[in-house]
Amino acid sequence: MKVEKKKEQKVVKPVLDLPETPQIPNDFHEITGLPSKGKLYNKETKIYARALKILEIKQLTNMDEDNYGFIIDNVLQKTTILHNVDYQDLLVADKLFIIFWQRANTYQGDGFSVDFACSKCIDNKVIEDQQNGIESTEESLREASVSKYDFSVENLQLTDIKEDYDPNTEIELKGCGKTVTMYQHTVATEKMIGKIKISEEIPNADLDILNLASIISSINGKPVDIKTAYAFIVDDITPPDFIVLEKYKTEYDININPTLEVTCNKCGGEVEAPLTFRPDFFLP
Ligand SMILES: [Zn+2]
Repeated sequence: MKVEKKKEQKVVKPVLDLPETPQIPNDFHEITGLPSKGKLYNKETKIYARALKILEIKQLTNMDEDNYGFIIDNVLQKTTILHNVDYQDLLVADKLFIIFWQRANTYQGDGFSVDFACSKCIDNKVIEDQQNGIESTEESLREASVSKYDFSVENLQLTDIKEDYDPNTEIELKGCGKTVTMYQHTVATEKMIGKIKISEEIPNADLDILNLASIISSINGKPVDIKTAYAFIVDDITPPDFIVLEKYKTEYDININPTLEVTCNKCGGEVEAPLTFRPDFFLP
């Protein structure tokens, strides 16, 4: 807003008219390229993150099967700024993308590479051994295949949100005559699954069914919690209904695939490497 200054008049700055620009520290950057493309959040949602510091990296290297959700949440809450979205409502796929973005930007261009076994290097070694009339041993192959790649976000293989995905779509289950809507795994549903596993609130819960139950958002138009959805799957629906739900989930699931497309430092080949949270991924 331009204010013409007049000599005799006091000019009051229109403080309240100023747009609400969030104060983002210089080391934070807006995250784009999320698997959800931000489409499931508010239009005003913005997500910022910064590169990791040594203590945060140390925390990440202590991850194991049981604590990884807790550790990632802990690190992300310190290293991200979320506008118009609660941390609990972040999609798990987006959350993981942010952690990988941070890993990539913490060592950007510094050549801190990650070890992996290159399948092309193995193939090359087998051919070489054949030509030399040597029998390849498991050990020699292992040695030949130890290689490195430089991680970048482009190595991630994302299953992005589909154009026609609408979380309000009513999925018809002919067997039980009901309809359901399904959402995606969020930080909140992930926590709920963990809580039920530990508390045994559902005794001997089947993990696949629990997983599916956690993303059912409504039955016949009525919002449901995970326990209700679990009971619904177990007691009400028919096996063909179950397959319908599984198919829908598979078709619209937003995620990060468990393999990376990387360039092997040794042979220069484009190969697939497993995507793991090994300690040396974060602290090479
Ligand atoms: Zn290679």
